[in-house]
Amino acid sequence: MAETEIQTPAASDADEERVGRIAGHVRAILAELGLDLADPNLRATDRRVARLYLEMFHGLREGAEPAVTTFPNDEHYSAMVMERRIPFYSLCAHHLVPFYGHAHVAYIPRDRIIGLSKFARILEFYAKRPQLQERLTEQVADYLHGALAPLGVMVVIEARHLCVEMRGVKKPGAATVTSAIRGAFHQKQVREEFLDLLRLD
Ligand SMILES: [Zn+2]
Repeated sequence: MAETEIQTPAASDADEERVGRIAGHVRAILAELGLDLADPNLRATDRRVARLYLEMFHGLREGAEPAVTTFPNDEHYSAMVMERRIPFYSLCAHHLVPFYGHAHVAYIPRDRIIGLSKFARILEFYAKRPQLQERLTEQVADYLHGALAPLGVMVVIEARHLCVEMRGVKKPGAATVTSAIRGAFHQKQVREEFLDLLRLD
C-alpha cells in the first residue's frame, strides 16, 4: 500500500512541537516492543501516529466547538425534526481503539431551530476525543437541549467497537445501541414516532 501522509489543516509551530513530543513517546513504545525503527515502513510511523491522534482528538482543542447558529422558528413548526444515519468515527477512552457507526438525532422545536448540517458537526466535535458511546450520546443530547431549549431531544447511536471485536469476547459485527432522551421524548408515543421515522424508507 502506498505510504500517505495524513493531511492536517495549516499546522502551526505549536502543533509541530506537539507532533514532535507525541512522536517521541510513540517511538519509545515501538522500541520497547523490539521493532526496528529503521525499517522503511516504521521510519515515520511515530509522526504519523502523532498527527493521527491530533486529528482524532481535535475535539479536545480550545475553540474546536462548532459555532452553531440557531434561527427563530417563524413557521411555528411543532413536529419532530430528524436526521438519520449520521456517520461518525471515534476512539474508545479505554483502549484508544476505534468505535464507529451512526447516530439518529431528533428534536421537537419550541422557539428556535437549527441548520440540519449542524447535527453532524456537533456529533463530530464530541466524537473527536477519547470517548465512551454512552457519554457521546448524552453530550449530543445535552448540547441540542442547551442550544435550542426545544420541547424534546432524542439521540440514538449504533456503533461497532473494535476493542470488543478484535480481542476478548470477539463478537464481530455486534452493535452497541445507546439512547439519550430529553423532554417530550419521555412520553412513549413520542418515542414511538421517533422509531416510526427511523424505519421509513
Ligand atoms: Zn475500548
